[in-house]
Amino acid sequence: NDEEASARAAAASADRGGSTIFDKIIAKEIPSTIVYEDEKVLAFKDINPQAPVHVLVIPKYRDALTQLSKAEPRHSEILGNLLYAAKIVAEKEGILDGFRVVINDGPSACQSVYHLHLHVLGGRQMAWPPG
Ligand code: 5GP
Repeated sequence: NDEEASARAAAASADRGGSTIFDKIIAKEIPSTIVYEDEKVLAFKDINPQAPVHVLVIPKYRDALTQLSKAEPRHSEILGNLLYAAKIVAEKEGILDGFRVVINDGPSACQSVYHLHLHVLGGRQMAWPPG
């Protein structure tokens, strides 16, 4: 459908290095609806929600990972922080009865922003397998 095609097009044309729109969100240069924030991570509502709850969780530090497949041993702590923040988000959003955490990595998975992020999705019945 149209939405799938545009997600594929956005992924294909994504800038795969350097700063992204998420750096501006971290700097509060562009607005977002923040759900949770601490010194290491920021969680905010996705601008194009795919479920009643759709929150992105990102690392806040400069020189963030662009994608999971670039992770190295030194990133293991922030990876744990992100996943734990996903649980806090699910709790805050009232979806602990069922939620999904997704990482899109690379063009074939429709990654469109090259600043590592978890998607936290819930508030509706999820299907499996995913699309
Ligand atoms: P990806 O496709 O890379 O896994 O996910 C990127 C996500 O960022 C998409 O779901 C997209 O809707 C979201 N997004 C892109 N730009 C913005 C923005 O400016 N603000 C917010 N809140 N979300 C954004």
